[in-house]
Amino acid sequence: GEVACICNSCYGGQDCSVFTPNCAADADDGNPLFLEPYWMNHAATTAVVVSGWNRMGYAYEDDSNISKELEKIIRQLHAVVGNANTSGKYILFGAGSTQLLNAAIIGLSPPHPDRDHSFSPASVVASAPFYQVYKQQTDIYNSLNFKWQGDTSTWKNKSDQVGNFIEFVTSPNNPDGQLKEPILKGPYVKTIYDYAYYWPHFTAIPTPADSDLMIFAMSKLTGHAGSRFGWAFVKDEAVYKRMSSYLSINSIGASQDAQLRAFVVLRMVVKDKAKGLFEFGYKTMRERWEMLNKTLSKSKRFSLQKLEPRYCSFFKEVTAYAWLKCEREEDHDCYAVLRAARIISRKGSVFSAEDRYARLSLIKNQDDFDLLLDRIDELVSQEEQPG
Ligand code: PMP
Repeated sequence: GEVACICNSCYGGQDCSVFTPNCAADADDGNPLFLEPYWMNHAATTAVVVSGWNRMGYAYEDDSNISKELEKIIRQLHAVVGNANTSGKYILFGAGSTQLLNAAIIGLSPPHPDRDHSFSPASVVASAPFYQVYKQQTDIYNSLNFKWQGDTSTWKNKSDQVGNFIEFVTSPNNPDGQLKEPILKGPYVKTIYDYAYYWPHFTAIPTPADSDLMIFAMSKLTGHAGSRFGWAFVKDEAVYKRMSSYLSINSIGASQDAQLRAFVVLRMVVKDKAKGLFEFGYKTMRERWEMLNKTLSKSKRFSLQKLEPRYCSFFKEVTAYAWLKCEREEDHDCYAVLRAARIISRKGSVFSAEDRYARLSLIKNQDDFDLLLDRIDELVSQEEQPG
């Protein structure tokens, strides 16, 4: 047929069926290809064809107004899923959540005098283990208005003494899948909620999120990470305006093509009453998490994070990433232990945690996961043989 296969790195040949025996199982990146089969099943209805002359202008000037229709679909989606209360909140589009994370920091840290009347930068913090891009982005701007100040726990109980704070809260968290709450509170603390994984295939949804600044994206929701499309809900008008101004200075707004793709794909998700995609996604994640747990249950050398059951007993907890701990005293570099067994993970220190931990991505395609599981099984069975 018309479908061109991109082979998993361990496979080759015309139909990706030729296995490369000693190839490493790559569980490093969070490329969410586990949802590809769902979209293959909806190939015709979600095809996007755009003629060369079509939709050439900047999206903000387009009369056909894809943005308004897209906004409607996004608000409907949250209502159907029940993961966010979007009423009374402004919406902004960005190139993935990545662009919006930074827009949020800029929106929340206007140059203004502190309570002690000086102009010190707002402290940007997150709780370890956290997604490394928060720190990387904050550092690269080297701004006078905001500054990376590390792990939130360092500032707990001190946050009422030392200037303004911006705390990132990632829930469920990357890398460990925990539902998180802000650590810092008070009038001088602003919170950015990164809800990239707050969807039913990654977590139970105890309540609709209803915070002042919430960021969502297509990447982990539908798997269309390559479209680079995300959105933010913002309660405060002044913050919204600053973010909006940043986005137009940074990129003249979101891509017309990305918006069209998002519209077509999200319309399908809503039309399926949010069931089709999430049922498939959840089933896949649950199978993977259960198989991994089963394989590692025999191990004394490796352990997995515990996911607390939240509210509804029929929902078995799942996670996008395994947060593996190497238990043996000598295994202080868990990444190296796994690498020697031909498994590529992501080091704990990337998330500002100990290297005794490593992250394994469970959201790649089925071949990736199957190979990962084989390799872990091999590792665990070596434990059982004495000597
Ligand atoms: N936030 C978190 C917690 C993530 O894990 C990721 C992707 N790995 C992102 C944001 C960025 O995703 P995107 O820009 O594709 O929306």
